[in-house]
Amino acid sequence: MTGRVALVTGASRGIGRAVAVRLASEGYRVAINYQSAEAAAEEVLEEIRSSGGAAALAKADVSDPAQVKELFARVSKELGPVEALVCNAGITRDNLLMRMSDAEWDEVIGTNLSSVFFCARAAIRPMMKARFGRIVAMSSVSGLVGNAGQANYAAAKAGILGIMKSIAREAGSRGVTANAIAPGYVETDMTASLPEDIRTGILAQIPAGRYGLPEDIANVAAFLVSDSASYINGQVITVDGGMTM
Ligand code: NAP
Repeated sequence: MTGRVALVTGASRGIGRAVAVRLASEGYRVAINYQSAEAAAEEVLEEIRSSGGAAALAKADVSDPAQVKELFARVSKELGPVEALVCNAGITRDNLLMRMSDAEWDEVIGTNLSSVFFCARAAIRPMMKARFGRIVAMSSVSGLVGNAGQANYAAAKAGILGIMKSIAREAGSRGVTANAIAPGYVETDMTASLPEDIRTGILAQIPAGRYGLPEDIANVAAFLVSDSASYINGQVITVDGGMTM
């Protein structure tokens, strides 16, 4: 059991929730960040505590730099300095490029990309001082191969790779690693609203023959923040059942 402090952004639902529960089961003291789904976040806290884990709620809009600064100060005071940061919060605002509004672009870049910059910036100094740190950011296969209707999302998810690789170069000599995970299609609220014919079309492209589960992604996140992954840096690990190989 590690006893380290982990902050998972967007941990009230979906992939972030699975990552928070998994890390808590390994002994991390987990800060459960969320934006507005208070009841869902409390459920995650309850699930962790009832299994003997340690966690705290950490409400903040991670697209807002002032709230991120305050979030890290609060987590550091309540649990200790963040040693494992999982930047997972994300949204979609899909539209064809010709119809995409400025707001759809800005919201997706703010929540999926700028948030990673704000959180990593807040985390990096104590990590470098401690000569240990793990940063994992949730990219997407959309960021690797593009996706019609997702120019904003794909740009944000590709941008994440640039941030992680730069952190890997800046902080690699201080025991800090920065990596990204690129999930394929994972069954969460984010994908639940896709029409059935689109879902079936996606399934046909997945050699594994099934959609991904949040736990499939949590397994990889738990590995990347562990001591076992200390020599993996600046990488993107695709977890998509073989969809984009
Ligand atoms: P989800 O079920 O929709 O959950 C999104 C989470 O992000 C929620 O906890 C939400 O908090 C939080 N969030 C959204 N905006 C936020 C903000 N401004 N500040 C703080 N938290 C915020 O999404 P998911 O499917 O689990 O996706 C998680 C990550 O994986 C995202 O980055 C997504 O892009 C990426 N991803 C997902 C898939 C997939 O197939 N599902 C595939 C590739 C990549 P509230 O509950 O408070 O709203």
